[in-house]
Amino acid sequence: MEKENLWLQVLEELKVSVSQPIFQTLLLKTTLVNLEKEVATIACPNPYIQSLVESRYYALLKNTLDKKTGQNNSLIFIIRNMAKEKSKVNTGPLFSWQEEKTAPKTFDEQSGLNPRYTFDTFVVGNSNNFAHAAAQAIVQAPGSAYNPFFVWGGVGVGKTHLVQAIGWALKEKNKDFKLLYISSETFTNDLVSALQQKKISVFKNKYRSVDALLVDDIQFIAGKEYSQEEFFHTFNALYVSGRQIILTSDRKPEEIPKIEERLTSRFMGGLTVDIQAPDYEMRVAILKARCRQLNATLGEKVIEALAENTASNVRELEGILAQVLASAKASGVEPNLDFVNQFFGIKNKKQVQDLAPRSVIAAVASHFKIKTGELLGPCRRKELVVPRQITMYLLRKELELSLVKVGELIGGRDHTTIIHGVDKIGKRFSLDSQLRHEIMLIKEALQS
Ligand code: ADP
Ligand code: MG
Repeated sequence: MEKENLWLQVLEELKVSVSQPIFQTLLLKTTLVNLEKEVATIACPNPYIQSLVESRYYALLKNTLDKKTGQNNSLIFIIRNMAKEKSKVNTGPLFSWQEEKTAPKTFDEQSGLNPRYTFDTFVVGNSNNFAHAAAQAIVQAPGSAYNPFFVWGGVGVGKTHLVQAIGWALKEKNKDFKLLYISSETFTNDLVSALQQKKISVFKNKYRSVDALLVDDIQFIAGKEYSQEEFFHTFNALYVSGRQIILTSDRKPEEIPKIEERLTSRFMGGLTVDIQAPDYEMRVAILKARCRQLNATLGEKVIEALAENTASNVRELEGILAQVLASAKASGVEPNLDFVNQFFGIKNKKQVQDLAPRSVIAAVASHFKIKTGELLGPCRRKELVVPRQITMYLLRKELELSLVKVGELIGGRDHTTIIHGVDKIGKRFSLDSQLRHEIMLIKEALQS
């Protein structure tokens, strides 16, 4: 079947699974440019759409494509404007997307680097400053500063972004620098087809002739014996000749299951760093940066509300921002604080402020199924301490009561105890989605 036709069929099927605006503004803007060896390359017109489609609709697209082709496909999203080719398809002028202001580079075919992922657009904060500093050192002295450089962390925290930024910076410093960015799945696929086509020397040459090899999501090599064997030799060949190796994974080298010991020890032979989910301050910074890129203006309070209410990985944060902007645009209103609160289903803060402190205490107690006497009492059992700190947090942040007042309400506690409790919850709030959820439920109970 022709690629175009196949893709149209995939999209046709998805039409009923997503809302019309999503379909028209996102899915319909994608094009299948290549499908080979179960790897589908899908073009998106701009990085904005790419990141949204990739983060939100990967599974949906994959499942539908798998069904249509009877294969187990991997999807790769690239940025390429196929508008000319697609001009026959009427995507409807429902609402247009702001193109990125800064997209100076294009997708680099030779190295596989995505133009969006540069140091310019990488926000540095508590969760990634060490990884960022190490990355800078590698740019200064590839192959010698830290080799290999192993970056691990949860999904959407910026691993891919950081290693590609290193790639761009290396190429910028020296345009003859030969660099290859691939996912470990591509490595495996390449190896399989090299074997099938009896072109293993071409394969070896491709991977062993580079100045730097960047392999994303190395954990997917787990359980694949032959890939591990070949990767071990590739690694050694590059390493002994002082070429830079950069790897990412969703966990530490020693925690990747089903991977050979000799590989694990190679991975640990350089520098291993982790990237954490962004804390509140960093989420604010990322949102501001992203707004600038998208040419969107959001008020300070709106940004804060988004940062407060969004789960902690960057990909999700970007997704929510995009959704807020798109749905405000679709309904023709300003994305102001009211709109954002409504978006998150939060009622006006004023309503909370009118509440009596006693209702807050009662709501927390009832949420955790403990007696108010216990909540306010002296016992320091863990099941009581956290609810007690949440009470302090809510009284302070939502009702804006003074520390002394909060102390009085919570069983006559000292103001330093209150500072500690409020701080503790505040810090956890940005990192712990379970806690955020609990607090949201309590707030909802208060407003109903
Ligand atoms: P991972 O590879 O860890 O799953 P990505 O590198 O793909 O995560 O990042 C997910 C999204 O978040 C990307 O759009 C990326 O540009 C963005 N992102 C992640 N970290 C940062 C950061 N520190 N500053 C700006 N954008 C970031
Ligand atoms: Mg990644």
